[in-house]
Amino acid sequence: MAKILVAEDEPALLESFCELVSALGHTVLAASDGDDALDLARREQPDLVVSDYMMPGRTGVELMLALQGDPVLAKVPVVLVSAARPPRSEIALAWRFLGKPVDLTILESSILEGLAASQARGPHAGFAPQPGPHVSPDSLAREDMLSWVAHEIKTPLSAALTLAELTMRGFESGETPDTTAKRLVKMRRQLLRMDELVNAALDAAQLQEGGMEVELVPTDFRELVERAVHYFGDLYPEVAFELADGPSVEIEADAQRLRQILDNLLSNAVKYGAKNGNVEIWLAATDRSASVSVKDYGRGIPQSELPHIFDRFHRVAGSGGRGHGLGLYIAAALSRLHGGEIGVESTPGGGSTFTLTVPLHRREPV
Ligand code: ADP
Repeated sequence: MAKILVAEDEPALLESFCELVSALGHTVLAASDGDDALDLARREQPDLVVSDYMMPGRTGVELMLALQGDPVLAKVPVVLVSAARPPRSEIALAWRFLGKPVDLTILESSILEGLAASQARGPHAGFAPQPGPHVSPDSLAREDMLSWVAHEIKTPLSAALTLAELTMRGFESGETPDTTAKRLVKMRRQLLRMDELVNAALDAAQLQEGGMEVELVPTDFRELVERAVHYFGDLYPEVAFELADGPSVEIEADAQRLRQILDNLLSNAVKYGAKNGNVEIWLAATDRSASVSVKDYGRGIPQSELPHIFDRFHRVAGSGGRGHGLGLYIAAALSRLHGGEIGVESTPGGGSTFTLTVPLHRREPV
């Protein structure tokens, strides 16, 4: 029985890859980022590593370089998997390179061949790199929306495909309906992520072209905020959402689009807030406008990043999580369509407060 280390930041894929390794009869060591993977490798000395290319913290390439610089781990073969096509020089560091979505049969044979090579203690075999463009996150920011969607969608797509393949194998091997049901729930989650991505891309494209229309009607601001906060409270019972008392005012809004802005601010507060921490929400009003503030106690945003966080595709380096950098771009554009704006105050390490301000509904004089 061999020890195989699997490093992958997408939880559904990590679980699927681990399941596949266990089914091959090997011991699996799971890591959800590059730093954990290196620690585990140093401690456990695996016979083979399966690693994602893009991971928070240490990337797959940095992991391979660290392994190769360690006398005990230098010869451990690495199967590198990636949605993007890394440069040839990086691919050459790996025992095998597999593009996502990964074909499970090919992953299995790569693992088995890698183990055979590792046991024979043969020379570190190189992989004949295939030509292809290098796709880096920076260059992606300059590409058009279509290639961005194609790139971003690959992770949930490959997770869903892997889960579908495992489900089909499960039917053949007679696994319990309970196991199948759990896989289907995970698969659905990945499909919903894809749906979210496509919707965000469509909204962003429409906003950029000036083609988005909003229907502004008198709307009860407090009720709208309350509904959003309750929804998030149900969705994340581990987070305390504290909505303070505040004025009840009527604003001019497209309720669906305004809700979209609120959802983005609240979901960012959960994503980047302190784990299981609280999120505070309060309303304020002047004689011309109303505002809602969402405060979290999370990682905060460096001062130098603040002017850029509303840019299309912009993500603060090391943010982690599952962002795609379109949420605030869309939220800011939608708030402008309401005649409003979003402001932000943040302290690195101390949390962030995002405030959406929109004009009040003006009653016609009678
Ligand atoms: P994403 O889908 O990446 O979350 P957004 O456009 O909503 O996209 O946010 C852009 C970036 O701004 C995020 O990737 C994150 O780095 C930063 N950010 C947004 N909200 C917060 C917050 N509440 N705390 C810390 N950083 C945040």
